[in-house]
Amino acid sequence: MTHPLSDRINSLPVSQTLAMAAKARELKGQGIDIISLSLGEPDFNTPDFIKDAAIEAIHQNYNSYSPVDGYVELKEAICTKFKRDNDLVYEPNQIVVSTGAKQSIANIAQVLLNPGDEVLLPAPYWVSYSAIAILCEAKFVEIPSSIDDDFKITPAQLEAAITPKTKMVFFNSPNNPSGSIYSEKEYRALAAVLENHPQIYVLSDEIYEHINYGAKPFSFAAIESMYDRTITVNGLAKAFAMTGWRIGYIGAPQWIAKACTKMQGQITSGTNCIAQRAAITAVLAPVEKVQYMVDEFKTRRDIVLDLLGKVEGFKLNVPEGAFYIFPDVSAFFGKTIKGFKIENANDFSLFLLEKANVATVTGDAFGAPNCIRMSYAASEAQLREAIQRIQDALS
Ligand code: GLU
Repeated sequence: MTHPLSDRINSLPVSQTLAMAAKARELKGQGIDIISLSLGEPDFNTPDFIKDAAIEAIHQNYNSYSPVDGYVELKEAICTKFKRDNDLVYEPNQIVVSTGAKQSIANIAQVLLNPGDEVLLPAPYWVSYSAIAILCEAKFVEIPSSIDDDFKITPAQLEAAITPKTKMVFFNSPNNPSGSIYSEKEYRALAAVLENHPQIYVLSDEIYEHINYGAKPFSFAAIESMYDRTITVNGLAKAFAMTGWRIGYIGAPQWIAKACTKMQGQITSGTNCIAQRAAITAVLAPVEKVQYMVDEFKTRRDIVLDLLGKVEGFKLNVPEGAFYIFPDVSAFFGKTIKGFKIENANDFSLFLLEKANVATVTGDAFGAPNCIRMSYAASEAQLREAIQRIQDALS
């Protein structure tokens, strides 16, 4: 039976990251020993000093609605962080706190995009970017890259993708799913293209900022000519192991921040008040306090690259940040292994789930159909076991 759902929801794809995580959970629930490398979620606990701040907020009776755009103390703390880490000067009236960076991005798209507008997505890109554009009836346009280019696009590619209808471009560095980081020089070269197209706004998603292995990410809005048309998105989920707390935020031109507040005021109101109070402590904490997680991620990245590098058919690069590897697995396409026919990355991901009991996410969801995404935000033992299983399944 077909239910009378709206065209809007019917045209929306399911989030493949969340779908794969749900599938892995379901199989585990059935007693199958699945190793889930699907979800981008730190496997650490939220640091105690942040938990303590939340407990304190509960005792101080923070229980009422907060201002829609966030507590002023949190917005001030975010301004301090932007200056400290990103050399960006924002005033509190340019900040909007939301229920996760995902809502921040959805707000921005809703307030800037009209039906028919074009959004440029350098691929690979995070699964929800395209879906959020679809919800605005905008057209998303992929700009492809490959593992040989470290999954980065060139200024010439950007120029070629621009049309009179282009309204936005989404940048994400460190990138989910590739882990690539654009250098200041590379970003400045892309900005030089955009300087000739003043109608284009930039969404710079910097949620993985602190998870980098030496190459400190550069903020796109720090390019003077881009500041007035860039929206910087960040949040606490990844660096502070606070995925479930749902705190994201933007720094933006004031008129965009105001519009996002208006949008949010009709949809969710202010974000959870306890999480916001704890976020003040997290945002102001020296980044060194969470460095132990980054160090651990780096160790794991190196282990995964070493072990997977020995498995024939996996083409790898060295991601400089985030906690994903994004191997090109096209060498397996057209093969039948253990009776399983592999035509594409989706088949390969299903093969790994069925024959190795390892959950990954197909690259199609990220606009990169030759690849699969594997998160190494899992214990070293699990990672070693997962790769052993993959090796066994392929042998
Ligand atoms: N951003 C994470 C990921 O890519 C969490 C899941 C999601 O929201 O997509 O796995």
